[in-house]
Amino acid sequence: MTKVGFIGLGIMGGPMAANLVAAGYEVAGYNRSQPKVDKLIAEGGKGARSVAEAVDDADVIVTMLPDSPDVESVVLGDDGVLAHAREGALLIDCSTIRPDVSRQVAEVAAKQHVQALDAPVSGGEKGAIDGALSIMVGGEADAFAAAGGVLDAVGKTVVHVGPAGSGQTVKAANQLIVAGNIGLVAEALGFLEAHGVDTDSAFQVLGGGLAGSKVLDAKNAGMRARQFQPGFRIELHHKDLGIVQSAARDAGVSTPLGSLVSQLMAAAVAQGDGSLDHSGLFRQIARLNGTE
Ligand code: NAD
Repeated sequence: MTKVGFIGLGIMGGPMAANLVAAGYEVAGYNRSQPKVDKLIAEGGKGARSVAEAVDDADVIVTMLPDSPDVESVVLGDDGVLAHAREGALLIDCSTIRPDVSRQVAEVAAKQHVQALDAPVSGGEKGAIDGALSIMVGGEADAFAAAGGVLDAVGKTVVHVGPAGSGQTVKAANQLIVAGNIGLVAEALGFLEAHGVDTDSAFQVLGGGLAGSKVLDAKNAGMRARQFQPGFRIELHHKDLGIVQSAARDAGVSTPLGSLVSQLMAAAVAQGDGSLDHSGLFRQIARLNGTE
């Protein structure tokens, strides 16, 4: 039986770890706060009291942490994953972080005979619960092949996109597209409401044409009802648009629409909406129109 050490049992990591248990893996989970570990134990996993305990005898280590500094400290830190992982283990980092940090993790891991993949995900909490995530994977081809069973247990569309860091670059593009799409759906809703149109029927017909999108389908009802329970928090999307902007600068590429939506997301955080679902960007756009 493959032993999996899983670190970061939050909105995404919790259900991903539960799906690995359901697929027959022996999963030892660690999280900074204990209730999330207790939940995994109730779902049939094992609880770990430290990073060391989670990864000591693991064949595969999965991390699902908020941001680059979290991965740097949990993976590269003195008492971190690479200090305790056994030779030959496979590290799969599913967090959304900067591509350059993923490349650094892969380099340090290789020196310790641990192979590392960056494998950020898309599909939200529902995709995590359903085991239906899209997973964009960067790293060596043989490591990707070795990760197959674990990634298939949590994802539906799993694609190797290139060497270390490439998964994060593709994820950054994903976040650029999603943020822009949310911004336009929010603007369209404000526009339709100002004209007194029945927005339920309007989005029904818009969803069937070229304007349709998964974002429109998943987010329009919440926006219309002003329900912004996360989901994917604005503060995390703000972090991701920072990754897009710095990675675009590194590549010498301009992303004008990305910069605009990034400023709106930053303003939403500054206005105290960081803990709302990213569809709550609607509130920031409504503020510009004096309707919120
Ligand atoms: P979350 O905040 O719900 O989960 C992160 C978990 O990591 C928390 O339970 C936290 O306690 C734990 N943690 C943080 N630092 C730790 C440490 N040092 N040691 C142990 N545990 C630690 O966040 P999330 O929504 O699950 O997102 C995780 C990652 O996935 C982020 O990079 C995010 O951008 C990405 N992501 C999220 C979604 C979504 O819809 N929520 C979708 C796709 C990708």
